[in-house]
Amino acid sequence: MARKMLIDGEVEKANKENTHYDFDLFVIGAGSGGVRASRFSAQYGAKVGICELPFHPISSETIGGVGGTCVIRGCVPKKILVYGAAFGAEIEDAKNYGWELNERTDFNWKKLLHKKTEEIVRLNGIYKRLLSNAGVKLFEGEGRVIGPNQVELIQLDGTKISYSAKHILIATGSRAHRPAIPGQELAITSDEALSLEELPKRAVILGGGYISVEFASIWRGMGVTVDLFFRKELPLRGFDDEMRTVVAKNLEGRGINLHPNTTLTELTKTEDGIKVRTDHGQEITADVVLFATGRAPNTKRLNLESVGVELDNRTGAVKVDEYSRTNIPSIWAIGDVTNRMNLTPVALMEGTCFAKTVFGGQPTAADYNHIPCAVFCIPPLSVVGLSEEQALENSNCDISVFTSTFNPMKNTISGRQEKTMMKLVVDAESDKVLGASMCGPDAPEIMQGIAVALKCGATKAQFDSTIGIHPSAAEEFVTMRSATRQIPARKPKANI
Ligand code: NDP
Repeated sequence: MARKMLIDGEVEKANKENTHYDFDLFVIGAGSGGVRASRFSAQYGAKVGICELPFHPISSETIGGVGGTCVIRGCVPKKILVYGAAFGAEIEDAKNYGWELNERTDFNWKKLLHKKTEEIVRLNGIYKRLLSNAGVKLFEGEGRVIGPNQVELIQLDGTKISYSAKHILIATGSRAHRPAIPGQELAITSDEALSLEELPKRAVILGGGYISVEFASIWRGMGVTVDLFFRKELPLRGFDDEMRTVVAKNLEGRGINLHPNTTLTELTKTEDGIKVRTDHGQEITADVVLFATGRAPNTKRLNLESVGVELDNRTGAVKVDEYSRTNIPSIWAIGDVTNRMNLTPVALMEGTCFAKTVFGGQPTAADYNHIPCAVFCIPPLSVVGLSEEQALENSNCDISVFTSTFNPMKNTISGRQEKTMMKLVVDAESDKVLGASMCGPDAPEIMQGIAVALKCGATKAQFDSTIGIHPSAAEEFVTMRSATRQIPARKPKANI
Protein backbone atom coordinates (compact mmCIF):
# COMPACT_ATOMS: atom_id res chain seq x y z
CA MET A 1 0.00 0.00 0.00
CA ALA A 2 2.78 2.41 1.00
CA ARG A 3 4.62 1.55 -2.24
CA LYS A 4 1.39 2.16 -4.21
CA MET A 5 0.98 5.61 -2.63
CA LEU A 6 4.63 6.40 -3.31
CA ILE A 7 4.25 5.45 -6.99
CA ASP A 8 1.00 7.44 -7.16
CA GLY A 9 2.67 10.53 -5.69
CA GLU A 10 5.82 10.28 -7.85
CA VAL A 11 3.88 9.75 -11.06
CA GLU A 12 1.51 12.61 -10.30
CA LYS A 13 4.47 14.89 -9.53
CA ALA A 14 6.22 13.94 -12.78
CA ASN A 15 3.03 14.45 -14.78
CA LYS A 16 2.51 17.91 -13.26
CA GLU A 17 6.07 19.10 -13.98
CA ASN A 18 6.16 22.30 -16.00
CA THR A 19 9.06 21.19 -18.19
CA HIS A 20 8.04 20.97 -21.83
CA TYR A 21 8.56 17.61 -23.48
CA ASP A 22 7.87 16.62 -27.09
CA PHE A 23 5.83 13.67 -25.78
CA ASP A 24 4.27 12.55 -22.50
CA LEU A 25 5.32 9.03 -23.46
CA PHE A 26 7.74 7.65 -26.02
CA VAL A 27 7.59 3.88 -26.54
CA ILE A 28 10.41 1.90 -28.15
CA GLY A 29 8.95 -1.22 -29.76
CA ALA A 30 5.49 -1.66 -31.26
CA GLY A 31 4.81 -5.30 -30.39
CA SER A 32 1.87 -6.51 -28.33
CA GLY A 33 2.97 -4.76 -25.11
CA GLY A 34 4.15 -1.49 -26.70
CA VAL A 35 1.02 -1.08 -28.83
CA ARG A 36 -1.28 -1.80 -25.86
CA ALA A 37 0.58 0.60 -23.54
CA SER A 38 0.68 3.43 -26.08
CA ARG A 39 -2.99 3.11 -27.11
CA PHE A 40 -4.25 2.98 -23.54
CA SER A 41 -1.97 5.87 -22.47
CA ALA A 42 -3.28 7.95 -25.38
CA GLN A 43 -6.85 7.11 -24.31
CA TYR A 44 -6.00 8.62 -20.90
CA GLY A 45 -5.05 11.82 -22.75
CA ALA A 46 -1.28 11.38 -23.07
CA LYS A 47 0.62 12.61 -26.12
CA VAL A 48 2.33 9.42 -27.30
CA GLY A 49 5.06 8.59 -29.82
CA ILE A 50 6.17 5.06 -30.67
CA CYS A 51 8.96 3.75 -32.88
CA GLU A 52 9.39 0.41 -34.59
CA LEU A 53 11.75 -1.08 -37.16
CA PRO A 54 10.50 -1.66 -40.72
CA PHE A 55 8.42 -4.78 -41.43
CA HIS A 56 9.77 -8.14 -42.56
CA PRO A 57 8.73 -11.67 -41.54
CA ILE A 58 12.33 -12.46 -40.50
CA SER A 59 13.70 -10.07 -37.89
CA SER A 60 17.21 -8.72 -37.46
CA GLU A 61 18.75 -5.90 -35.46
CA THR A 62 17.38 -3.45 -38.02
CA ILE A 63 14.15 -5.19 -39.08
CA GLY A 64 11.00 -5.80 -37.08
CA GLY A 65 7.50 -4.51 -37.84
CA VAL A 66 4.45 -3.13 -36.06
CA GLY A 67 2.75 -6.06 -34.34
CA GLY A 68 6.01 -7.53 -33.08
CA THR A 69 7.00 -11.15 -32.59
CA CYS A 70 3.54 -12.48 -31.70
CA VAL A 71 1.85 -11.15 -34.81
CA ILE A 72 4.63 -11.34 -37.39
CA ARG A 73 6.88 -14.24 -36.42
CA GLY A 74 5.38 -15.92 -33.37
CA CYS A 75 1.99 -16.95 -32.04
CA VAL A 76 -0.14 -15.95 -35.05
CA PRO A 77 1.83 -17.46 -37.96
CA LYS A 78 2.66 -20.48 -35.77
CA LYS A 79 -1.03 -21.13 -35.08
CA ILE A 80 -1.80 -20.82 -38.81
CA LEU A 81 0.82 -23.50 -39.51
CA VAL A 82 -0.55 -25.68 -36.67
CA TYR A 83 -4.01 -25.49 -38.28
CA GLY A 84 -2.42 -26.35 -41.64
CA ALA A 85 -0.50 -29.30 -40.20
CA ALA A 86 -3.49 -30.73 -38.32
CA PHE A 87 -5.48 -31.34 -41.52
CA GLY A 88 -3.20 -34.25 -42.49
CA ALA A 89 -4.22 -36.35 -39.48
CA GLU A 90 -7.83 -35.14 -39.76
CA ILE A 91 -7.97 -36.50 -43.31
CA GLU A 92 -6.67 -39.85 -41.99
CA ASP A 93 -9.24 -39.80 -39.18
CA ALA A 94 -12.03 -39.02 -41.65
CA LYS A 95 -11.67 -42.38 -43.41
CA ASN A 96 -13.44 -44.41 -40.71
CA TYR A 97 -16.13 -41.75 -40.67
CA GLY A 98 -17.04 -42.75 -44.21
CA TRP A 99 -15.00 -40.27 -46.21
CA GLU A 100 -13.55 -42.07 -49.17
CA LEU A 101 -10.47 -40.18 -50.17
CA ASN A 102 -9.57 -42.10 -53.25
CA GLU A 103 -7.14 -39.75 -54.85
CA ARG A 104 -3.74 -38.79 -53.50
CA THR A 105 -3.81 -35.80 -51.20
CA ASP A 106 -0.86 -33.45 -51.63
CA PHE A 107 0.20 -30.68 -49.32
CA ASN A 108 1.22 -27.39 -50.95
CA TRP A 109 3.56 -25.62 -48.51
CA LYS A 110 4.05 -22.59 -50.75
CA LYS A 111 0.33 -21.92 -50.84
CA LEU A 112 0.05 -21.99 -47.04
CA LEU A 113 3.17 -19.85 -46.71
CA HIS A 114 1.68 -17.27 -49.07
CA LYS A 115 -1.63 -17.24 -47.17
CA LYS A 116 0.23 -16.92 -43.87
CA THR A 117 2.26 -13.95 -45.14
CA GLU A 118 -0.89 -12.29 -46.50
CA GLU A 119 -2.48 -12.62 -43.07
CA ILE A 120 0.45 -11.15 -41.14
CA VAL A 121 0.68 -8.25 -43.61
CA ARG A 122 -3.04 -7.64 -42.98
CA LEU A 123 -2.51 -7.72 -39.21
CA ASN A 124 0.49 -5.39 -39.49
CA GLY A 125 -1.83 -2.91 -41.21
CA ILE A 126 -4.50 -3.33 -38.52
CA TYR A 127 -1.97 -2.66 -35.75
CA LYS A 128 -0.82 0.51 -37.54
CA ARG A 129 -4.43 1.64 -37.84
CA LEU A 130 -5.05 0.91 -34.15
CA LEU A 131 -2.19 3.26 -33.30
CA SER A 132 -3.26 6.06 -35.61
CA ASN A 133 -6.92 5.76 -34.52
CA ALA A 134 -5.75 6.20 -30.92
CA GLY A 135 -3.80 9.32 -31.92
CA VAL A 136 -0.38 7.70 -31.35
CA LYS A 137 2.39 9.02 -33.61
CA LEU A 138 4.30 6.14 -35.23
CA PHE A 139 7.93 6.57 -36.31
CA GLU A 140 9.69 3.98 -38.45
CA GLY A 141 13.27 3.50 -37.36
CA GLU A 142 15.50 2.28 -34.57
CA GLY A 143 15.06 3.87 -31.15
CA ARG A 144 17.64 4.20 -28.39
CA VAL A 145 17.66 5.94 -25.06
CA ILE A 146 20.14 8.81 -24.75
CA GLY A 147 18.96 10.33 -21.47
CA PRO A 148 16.36 9.81 -18.74
CA ASN A 149 13.92 11.86 -20.84
CA GLN A 150 15.51 11.68 -24.28
CA VAL A 151 15.26 9.14 -27.09
CA GLU A 152 17.12 9.11 -30.38
CA LEU A 153 15.54 7.76 -33.53
CA ILE A 154 17.71 6.48 -36.35
CA GLN A 155 15.47 6.91 -39.36
CA LEU A 156 15.41 4.62 -42.38
CA ASP A 157 17.66 6.99 -44.38
CA GLY A 158 20.23 6.89 -41.55
CA THR A 159 19.53 10.40 -40.24
CA LYS A 160 19.14 10.81 -36.50
CA ILE A 161 16.54 12.82 -34.69
CA SER A 162 15.95 13.10 -30.97
CA TYR A 163 12.76 13.61 -28.96
CA SER A 164 12.17 14.42 -25.32
CA ALA A 165 9.55 12.53 -23.33
CA LYS A 166 8.28 12.72 -19.76
CA HIS A 167 8.20 8.92 -19.68
CA ILE A 168 10.04 6.38 -21.83
CA LEU A 169 8.78 2.82 -22.17
CA ILE A 170 11.02 0.00 -23.40
CA ALA A 171 8.99 -2.75 -25.10
CA THR A 172 11.50 -4.30 -27.47
CA GLY A 173 10.74 -7.96 -26.74
CA SER A 174 13.22 -10.76 -27.19
CA ARG A 175 15.22 -12.47 -29.88
CA ALA A 176 16.03 -16.15 -30.51
CA HIS A 177 19.19 -17.33 -28.79
CA ARG A 178 21.64 -19.70 -30.51
CA PRO A 179 23.93 -22.00 -28.52
CA ALA A 180 27.61 -21.62 -29.41
CA ILE A 181 28.04 -24.95 -31.22
CA PRO A 182 30.53 -25.29 -34.10
CA GLY A 183 28.53 -24.79 -37.28
CA GLN A 184 25.71 -22.97 -35.45
CA GLU A 185 25.38 -20.55 -38.39
CA LEU A 186 23.97 -23.45 -40.45
CA ALA A 187 20.94 -23.69 -38.16
CA ILE A 188 17.81 -21.56 -38.39
CA THR A 189 15.62 -20.10 -35.64
CA SER A 190 11.83 -19.93 -35.44
CA ASP A 191 11.90 -16.66 -37.46
CA GLU A 192 13.19 -18.44 -40.55
CA ALA A 193 11.26 -21.65 -39.82
CA LEU A 194 8.01 -19.71 -40.20
CA SER A 195 9.07 -18.44 -43.63
CA LEU A 196 11.00 -21.28 -45.29
CA GLU A 197 10.91 -21.14 -49.09
CA GLU A 198 10.80 -24.95 -49.31
CA LEU A 199 9.31 -27.47 -46.90
CA PRO A 200 12.19 -29.70 -45.72
CA LYS A 201 11.99 -33.47 -46.09
CA ARG A 202 14.10 -34.04 -42.96
CA ALA A 203 14.28 -31.70 -39.97
CA VAL A 204 16.38 -31.78 -36.82
CA ILE A 205 15.20 -29.68 -33.87
CA LEU A 206 17.29 -28.81 -30.82
CA GLY A 207 15.48 -27.81 -27.61
CA GLY A 208 12.68 -29.17 -25.46
CA GLY A 209 10.60 -26.03 -24.93
CA TYR A 210 7.48 -24.52 -26.45
CA ILE A 211 8.88 -23.79 -29.90
CA SER A 212 10.60 -27.14 -30.40
CA VAL A 213 7.55 -29.29 -29.69
CA GLU A 214 5.28 -26.95 -31.65
CA PHE A 215 7.53 -27.07 -34.73
CA ALA A 216 8.02 -30.81 -34.37
CA SER A 217 4.23 -31.16 -34.58
CA ILE A 218 3.89 -28.70 -37.46
CA TRP A 219 6.54 -30.32 -39.62
CA ARG A 220 5.54 -33.89 -38.79
CA GLY A 221 1.93 -33.03 -39.59
CA MET A 222 3.12 -31.89 -43.02
CA GLY A 223 4.92 -35.18 -43.61
CA VAL A 224 8.47 -34.15 -42.67
CA THR A 225 10.78 -36.64 -40.90
CA VAL A 226 11.50 -34.95 -37.56
CA ASP A 227 14.25 -35.73 -35.05
CA LEU A 228 13.84 -33.81 -31.78
CA PHE A 229 16.83 -33.52 -29.43
CA PHE A 230 16.50 -32.25 -25.85
CA ARG A 231 18.70 -32.25 -22.77
CA LYS A 232 16.23 -33.60 -20.22
CA GLU A 233 14.45 -36.93 -19.89
CA LEU A 234 11.22 -35.25 -21.05
CA PRO A 235 10.39 -32.12 -23.06
CA LEU A 236 8.73 -29.01 -21.55
CA ARG A 237 10.68 -28.53 -18.33
CA GLY A 238 8.59 -26.57 -15.83
CA PHE A 239 5.28 -28.22 -16.79
CA ASP A 240 3.65 -31.01 -14.77
CA ASP A 241 5.79 -34.15 -15.12
CA GLU A 242 2.86 -36.45 -15.80
CA MET A 243 1.63 -34.16 -18.57
CA ARG A 244 5.15 -33.96 -20.03
CA THR A 245 5.12 -37.76 -20.28
CA VAL A 246 1.80 -37.64 -22.13
CA VAL A 247 3.12 -34.99 -24.55
CA ALA A 248 6.24 -37.08 -25.24
CA LYS A 249 4.12 -40.17 -25.87
CA ASN A 250 1.80 -38.27 -28.21
CA LEU A 251 4.70 -36.73 -30.15
CA GLU A 252 6.15 -40.21 -30.62
CA GLY A 253 2.73 -41.59 -31.50
CA ARG A 254 2.50 -39.03 -34.30
CA GLY A 255 5.82 -40.23 -35.70
CA ILE A 256 8.36 -37.77 -34.25
CA ASN A 257 11.73 -39.32 -33.34
CA LEU A 258 12.53 -38.23 -29.78
CA HIS A 259 16.11 -38.09 -28.53
CA PRO A 260 15.96 -37.34 -24.78
CA ASN A 261 19.06 -36.58 -22.70
CA THR A 262 20.85 -35.60 -25.90
CA THR A 263 22.27 -32.40 -27.28
CA LEU A 264 24.03 -31.40 -30.48
CA THR A 265 27.76 -30.81 -30.50
CA GLU A 266 28.50 -29.93 -34.12
CA LEU A 267 26.84 -29.04 -37.41
CA THR A 268 28.58 -29.49 -40.77
CA LYS A 269 27.48 -28.84 -44.32
CA THR A 270 27.60 -31.88 -46.59
CA GLU A 271 26.45 -32.54 -50.15
CA ASP A 272 23.38 -34.23 -48.75
CA GLY A 273 22.36 -31.50 -46.31
CA ILE A 274 23.40 -30.51 -42.78
CA LYS A 275 25.02 -33.25 -40.71
CA VAL A 276 24.50 -32.96 -36.95
CA ARG A 277 26.57 -34.77 -34.37
CA THR A 278 25.26 -35.47 -30.87
CA ASP A 279 27.02 -35.78 -27.52
CA HIS A 280 26.42 -39.55 -27.84
CA GLY A 281 28.35 -39.64 -31.13
CA GLN A 282 25.22 -40.18 -33.22
CA GLU A 283 25.12 -38.50 -36.67
CA ILE A 284 22.00 -37.50 -38.61
CA THR A 285 21.69 -35.51 -41.82
CA ALA A 286 18.79 -33.14 -42.32
CA ASP A 287 17.68 -30.45 -44.75
CA VAL A 288 16.96 -28.02 -41.93
CA VAL A 289 18.25 -27.72 -38.36
CA LEU A 290 16.13 -25.58 -36.04
CA PHE A 291 17.55 -24.17 -32.83
CA ALA A 292 14.65 -23.62 -30.40
CA THR A 293 16.82 -23.02 -27.39
CA GLY A 294 15.16 -20.04 -25.75
CA ARG A 295 15.00 -16.32 -26.37
CA ALA A 296 17.06 -13.46 -24.94
CA PRO A 297 15.76 -9.98 -23.99
CA ASN A 298 16.36 -7.50 -26.77
CA THR A 299 18.40 -4.83 -24.97
CA LYS A 300 21.74 -4.79 -26.80
CA ARG A 301 21.38 -1.68 -28.96
CA LEU A 302 19.24 0.46 -26.65
CA ASN A 303 22.12 2.23 -24.88
CA LEU A 304 20.40 1.57 -21.57
CA GLU A 305 23.50 0.97 -19.48
CA SER A 306 25.05 4.34 -20.44
CA VAL A 307 21.92 6.03 -19.14
CA GLY A 308 22.18 4.04 -15.91
CA VAL A 309 19.27 1.62 -16.41
CA GLU A 310 20.00 -1.59 -14.49
CA LEU A 311 20.02 -4.82 -16.48
CA ASP A 312 20.04 -8.37 -15.18
CA ASN A 313 23.65 -9.59 -15.28
CA ARG A 314 22.80 -13.07 -16.51
CA THR A 315 20.04 -12.47 -19.07
CA GLY A 316 20.45 -8.79 -20.01
CA ALA A 317 16.77 -8.21 -19.13
CA VAL A 318 15.68 -4.76 -17.96
CA LYS A 319 15.15 -4.87 -14.20
CA VAL A 320 11.79 -3.43 -13.12
CA ASP A 321 9.61 -3.22 -10.02
CA GLU A 322 6.04 -4.52 -9.76
CA TYR A 323 4.82 -1.41 -11.63
CA SER A 324 7.29 -2.05 -14.50
CA ARG A 325 9.45 0.91 -13.49
CA THR A 326 13.23 0.72 -13.85
CA ASN A 327 15.70 2.26 -11.38
CA ILE A 328 15.47 5.48 -13.48
CA PRO A 329 12.06 6.90 -12.48
CA SER A 330 11.14 8.18 -15.97
CA ILE A 331 12.05 4.90 -17.73
CA TRP A 332 9.75 1.87 -17.68
CA ALA A 333 9.81 -1.55 -19.38
CA ILE A 334 7.24 -4.23 -20.17
CA GLY A 335 7.00 -7.57 -21.96
CA ASP A 336 9.73 -10.07 -22.88
CA VAL A 337 12.48 -7.45 -22.52
CA THR A 338 11.92 -7.72 -18.75
CA ASN A 339 11.97 -11.56 -18.86
CA ARG A 340 9.18 -12.00 -16.31
CA MET A 341 6.59 -14.31 -17.86
CA ASN A 342 7.22 -14.25 -21.59
CA LEU A 343 3.73 -14.57 -23.02
CA THR A 344 1.77 -12.14 -25.22
CA PRO A 345 -1.24 -11.81 -22.87
CA VAL A 346 1.17 -11.04 -20.01
CA ALA A 347 2.81 -8.25 -22.04
CA LEU A 348 -0.70 -6.92 -22.75
CA MET A 349 -1.52 -6.98 -19.04
CA GLU A 350 1.74 -5.20 -18.19
CA GLY A 351 0.97 -2.57 -20.87
CA THR A 352 -2.50 -2.00 -19.43
CA CYS A 353 -1.14 -1.72 -15.88
CA PHE A 354 1.55 0.71 -17.05
CA ALA A 355 -1.00 3.04 -18.70
CA LYS A 356 -3.27 2.91 -15.63
CA THR A 357 -0.35 3.61 -13.29
CA VAL A 358 1.29 6.42 -15.23
CA PHE A 359 -1.62 8.17 -16.95
CA GLY A 360 -4.78 6.74 -15.39
CA GLY A 361 -4.12 7.78 -11.81
CA GLN A 362 -4.54 4.17 -10.60
CA PRO A 363 -1.21 2.55 -9.68
CA THR A 364 -1.74 -1.06 -10.73
CA ALA A 365 0.75 -3.88 -10.29
CA ALA A 366 0.48 -6.78 -12.73
CA ASP A 367 -1.05 -9.95 -11.26
CA TYR A 368 0.89 -13.06 -12.23
CA ASN A 369 -1.41 -15.52 -10.47
CA HIS A 370 -3.44 -18.04 -12.44
CA ILE A 371 -2.06 -17.16 -15.86
CA PRO A 372 -3.16 -19.96 -18.19
CA CYS A 373 -0.97 -20.97 -21.10
CA ALA A 374 -0.89 -23.48 -23.91
CA VAL A 375 1.70 -25.33 -25.91
CA PHE A 376 0.35 -25.81 -29.42
CA CYS A 377 1.89 -29.16 -30.11
CA ILE A 378 -0.55 -31.63 -31.70
CA PRO A 379 -2.59 -32.43 -29.63
CA PRO A 380 -2.03 -29.36 -27.43
CA LEU A 381 -1.18 -29.06 -23.75
CA SER A 382 -2.78 -26.35 -21.67
CA VAL A 383 -2.40 -25.54 -17.99
CA VAL A 384 -3.38 -23.05 -15.32
CA GLY A 385 -2.16 -22.73 -11.75
CA LEU A 386 0.24 -25.15 -10.11
CA SER A 387 1.59 -28.43 -11.42
CA GLU A 388 1.65 -31.35 -8.99
CA GLU A 389 5.37 -30.75 -8.39
CA GLN A 390 4.89 -27.00 -7.80
CA ALA A 391 1.98 -27.64 -5.42
CA LEU A 392 4.14 -30.00 -3.37
CA GLU A 393 7.06 -27.60 -3.45
CA ASN A 394 5.17 -24.39 -2.70
CA SER A 395 2.29 -25.29 -0.41
CA ASN A 396 2.32 -26.62 3.09
CA CYS A 397 -0.90 -28.55 2.63
CA ASP A 398 -1.78 -32.13 1.79
CA ILE A 399 -2.52 -32.49 -1.90
CA SER A 400 -5.20 -34.54 -3.64
CA VAL A 401 -4.52 -35.33 -7.26
CA PHE A 402 -7.39 -36.19 -9.59
CA THR A 403 -6.59 -37.55 -13.03
CA SER A 404 -8.58 -38.79 -15.96
CA THR A 405 -7.04 -40.52 -18.95
CA PHE A 406 -9.45 -41.51 -21.67
CA ASN A 407 -9.96 -42.22 -25.31
CA PRO A 408 -11.60 -39.12 -26.82
CA MET A 409 -14.94 -40.07 -28.39
CA LYS A 410 -13.76 -39.06 -31.87
CA ASN A 411 -10.95 -41.63 -31.66
CA THR A 412 -13.34 -44.52 -30.97
CA ILE A 413 -14.46 -44.37 -34.61
CA SER A 414 -11.34 -42.97 -36.26
CA GLY A 415 -9.21 -45.60 -34.56
CA ARG A 416 -6.51 -43.10 -33.58
CA GLN A 417 -4.54 -44.48 -30.65
CA GLU A 418 -4.10 -41.32 -28.61
CA LYS A 419 -5.35 -40.67 -25.10
CA THR A 420 -6.43 -37.37 -23.63
CA MET A 421 -5.31 -36.63 -20.09
CA MET A 422 -6.73 -34.18 -17.55
CA LYS A 423 -5.54 -33.40 -14.08
CA LEU A 424 -6.67 -31.35 -11.09
CA VAL A 425 -4.37 -30.64 -8.15
CA VAL A 426 -6.37 -29.82 -5.03
CA ASP A 427 -5.48 -28.51 -1.56
CA ALA A 428 -6.86 -31.39 0.53
CA GLU A 429 -7.69 -29.16 3.50
CA SER A 430 -9.34 -26.12 1.90
CA ASP A 431 -10.57 -28.10 -1.13
CA LYS A 432 -9.33 -25.26 -3.34
CA VAL A 433 -8.24 -26.29 -6.84
CA LEU A 434 -4.60 -25.23 -7.11
CA GLY A 435 -3.91 -26.30 -10.67
CA ALA A 436 -5.46 -27.83 -13.77
CA SER A 437 -3.84 -29.33 -16.85
CA MET A 438 -5.02 -31.03 -19.99
CA CYS A 439 -3.32 -32.61 -22.96
CA GLY A 440 -5.74 -33.37 -25.75
CA PRO A 441 -7.76 -31.80 -28.56
CA ASP A 442 -9.15 -28.34 -27.71
CA ALA A 443 -7.21 -28.15 -24.41
CA PRO A 444 -6.51 -24.37 -24.74
CA GLU A 445 -10.18 -23.64 -25.52
CA ILE A 446 -11.27 -25.59 -22.44
CA MET A 447 -8.57 -24.26 -20.12
CA GLN A 448 -9.55 -20.61 -20.61
CA GLY A 449 -12.83 -21.27 -18.78
CA ILE A 450 -11.11 -23.34 -16.08
CA ALA A 451 -8.74 -20.39 -15.55
CA VAL A 452 -11.70 -18.15 -14.68
CA ALA A 453 -12.83 -20.71 -12.09
CA LEU A 454 -9.37 -20.92 -10.52
CA LYS A 455 -9.01 -17.13 -10.50
CA CYS A 456 -12.29 -17.03 -8.56
CA GLY A 457 -10.86 -19.52 -6.04
CA ALA A 458 -13.05 -22.47 -7.07
CA THR A 459 -13.09 -25.56 -4.84
CA LYS A 460 -13.20 -29.16 -6.01
CA ALA A 461 -16.74 -29.38 -4.57
CA GLN A 462 -17.76 -26.52 -6.89
CA PHE A 463 -16.21 -28.32 -9.86
CA ASP A 464 -18.17 -31.45 -8.80
CA SER A 465 -21.46 -29.57 -8.50
CA THR A 466 -21.05 -28.08 -11.99
CA ILE A 467 -23.09 -29.90 -14.61
CA GLY A 468 -21.12 -31.30 -17.53
CA ILE A 469 -21.74 -30.61 -21.20
CA HIS A 470 -22.48 -33.98 -22.72
CA PRO A 471 -20.97 -35.53 -24.72
CA SER A 472 -17.74 -33.57 -24.54
CA ALA A 473 -14.19 -34.10 -23.32
CA ALA A 474 -14.51 -30.98 -21.18
CA GLU A 475 -17.13 -32.61 -18.94
CA GLU A 476 -14.39 -34.85 -17.51
CA PHE A 477 -13.19 -31.81 -15.54
CA VAL A 478 -16.41 -31.90 -13.49
CA THR A 479 -16.75 -35.67 -13.15
CA MET A 480 -13.45 -36.72 -11.56
CA ARG A 481 -15.01 -38.11 -8.38
CA SER A 482 -12.27 -40.01 -6.56
CA ALA A 483 -8.69 -38.91 -6.05
CA THR A 484 -6.02 -40.81 -7.95
CA ARG A 485 -3.63 -40.18 -5.05
CA GLN A 486 -3.29 -38.20 -1.82
CA ILE A 487 0.10 -36.74 -1.05
CA PRO A 488 0.98 -35.51 2.44
CA ALA A 489 2.48 -32.02 2.78
CA ARG A 490 6.24 -31.95 2.32
CA LYS A 491 6.85 -28.83 4.40
CA PRO A 492 5.91 -28.60 8.08
CA LYS A 493 2.45 -27.08 8.57
CA ALA A 494 2.56 -23.44 9.66
CA ASN A 495 0.55 -23.93 12.84
CA ILE A 496 2.38 -27.01 14.12
P1 NDP B 1 11.92 -22.36 -23.92
O1 NDP B 1 12.50 -21.53 -22.86
O2 NDP B 1 10.49 -22.76 -23.84
O3 NDP B 1 12.78 -23.70 -24.07
C1 NDP B 1 14.15 -23.65 -24.36
C2 NDP B 1 14.63 -25.06 -24.54
O4 NDP B 1 15.94 -25.02 -25.07
C3 NDP B 1 14.69 -25.84 -23.24
O5 NDP B 1 14.23 -27.14 -23.50
C4 NDP B 1 16.18 -25.84 -22.90
O6 NDP B 1 16.58 -27.00 -22.27
C5 NDP B 1 16.79 -25.83 -24.29
N1 NDP B 1 18.13 -25.27 -24.32
C6 NDP B 1 18.54 -24.05 -23.90
N2 NDP B 1 19.85 -23.88 -24.15
C7 NDP B 1 20.27 -25.02 -24.74
C8 NDP B 1 21.53 -25.45 -25.22
N3 NDP B 1 22.61 -24.68 -25.15
N4 NDP B 1 21.61 -26.69 -25.75
C9 NDP B 1 20.54 -27.50 -25.83
N5 NDP B 1 19.31 -27.13 -25.40
C10 NDP B 1 19.19 -25.91 -24.86
O7 NDP B 1 12.27 -21.59 -25.27
P2 NDP B 1 11.64 -21.58 -26.70
O8 NDP B 1 12.75 -21.12 -27.58
O9 NDP B 1 10.94 -22.84 -27.02
O10 NDP B 1 10.54 -20.43 -26.58
C11 NDP B 1 10.92 -19.14 -26.12
C12 NDP B 1 9.81 -18.53 -25.33
O11 NDP B 1 8.80 -18.09 -26.20
C13 NDP B 1 9.09 -19.48 -24.37
O12 NDP B 1 9.73 -19.59 -23.15
C14 NDP B 1 7.75 -18.85 -24.25
O13 NDP B 1 7.83 -17.87 -23.24
C15 NDP B 1 7.53 -18.19 -25.58
N6 NDP B 1 6.66 -19.00 -26.44
C16 NDP B 1 5.36 -19.21 -26.07
C17 NDP B 1 4.53 -19.96 -26.84
C18 NDP B 1 3.11 -20.20 -26.41
O14 NDP B 1 2.62 -19.50 -25.54
N7 NDP B 1 2.43 -21.21 -26.98
C19 NDP B 1 4.96 -20.54 -28.11
C20 NDP B 1 6.35 -20.28 -28.39
C21 NDP B 1 7.14 -19.54 -27.59
P3 NDP B 1 16.53 -27.21 -20.68
O15 NDP B 1 15.09 -27.42 -20.34
O16 NDP B 1 17.38 -28.40 -20.49
O17 NDP B 1 17.09 -25.96 -20.10
